[in-house]
Amino acid sequence: MRRLQRPYPPGSFMKVMDRGRAELHHMVETRSKWGPASLREHNLIFRNRRMVGEIRSVMSEVSEGTCHACEQPVQASGGELEFFRPWQMAGNARKDRGSPDHYWWLSYDWENLQLLCPMCNRCKASLFPIAGERAPIGAHYEQLLDEQPLLLNPFDDDPKDHITTGEDGFLIALTERGQVTIEVYQLNRADLHEQRRALFKRLRALVSQLKFTRVSSAEAKQVAIASVLNLVGMEFRGLNRPGIAGGPIS
Ligand SMILES: [Zn+2]
Repeated sequence: MRRLQRPYPPGSFMKVMDRGRAELHHMVETRSKWGPASLREHNLIFRNRRMVGEIRSVMSEVSEGTCHACEQPVQASGGELEFFRPWQMAGNARKDRGSPDHYWWLSYDWENLQLLCPMCNRCKASLFPIAGERAPIGAHYEQLLDEQPLLLNPFDDDPKDHITTGEDGFLIALTERGQVTIEVYQLNRADLHEQRRALFKRLRALVSQLKFTRVSSAEAKQVAIASVLNLVGMEFRGLNRPGIAGGPIS
């Protein structure tokens, strides 16, 4: 996971956003009955395939075509548009039943959308662990700031403050939020770990080769090394790379 710049919503989403939010908040205020079926029916985001495609495209562009959680390419699958705070059954742990009332009223909040690969989406499911109490039903953005999510949001948090990478490609939590994020998305699952381990091995070999090339200046050598790191590590750009980029290279 790496820090991402939140993009602007596409015009098609802007058109329905205000009306959708107003309708959902009206449901909160009038205490209308809601249920999964009526909400799904109400939710234009999932009804409008063209808009979903446009949002997915914008979200994919900011992460250079990678999943916002595991950084694996999503071009093949197109990625899955998901809610950071789930629209129902938000749970603190896999065995929890979850809260049926959280967080359906955020269905039109641009800040609540993210792009996940199918596997990360499956791992996350409706998990949204928090410390303390959940926000009141219908909470606006300012009230949500009082909630303490344990899951990192790459648009709001800098993951490198919470997660680092061991030399074998295994992710190591630096904070509780880092630990929860690794667990929820299962970021140390076998295939990801193996890919990171292989990538690190390849990077070390390339950097080692560069150290012995006849590049005249130290600056040129650093540029060459940075290029290699970028090219090889496109899908894992967010990784801290101890012992590779920060090694004894000069
Ligand atoms: Zn993923």
